[in-house]
Amino acid sequence: MRTNPAAYGDDPFVDKKCPGCGQAWPDFIVEGTGEQAVRCAHCGAVIDTFRFDEGYTIVFDEQRRVGLTVTAEVAERLAERAHEVMALPEASE
Ligand SMILES: [Zn+2]
Repeated sequence: MRTNPAAYGDDPFVDKKCPGCGQAWPDFIVEGTGEQAVRCAHCGAVIDTFRFDEGYTIVFDEQRRVGLTVTAEVAERLAERAHEVMALPEASE
């Protein structure tokens, strides 16, 4: 994981800011998938505080006892249906 110094002040975990308009903890929109997907709702700039050199997506069986790493193609298809296929708590975004 790498940080993007343009997207935070002193600490990337608690001091986020938009590299475009400077808004602290800006409201955001999600356009598509990938590192460029999360954008400032005010100015549209990419607000990627963290960047990743490597990553992977894992799917689990219903009992969450077995996990399999999927290909990039499958991960992209899952990302397009994230709200439908992810096991997030109801209030999570
Ligand atoms: Zn902005």
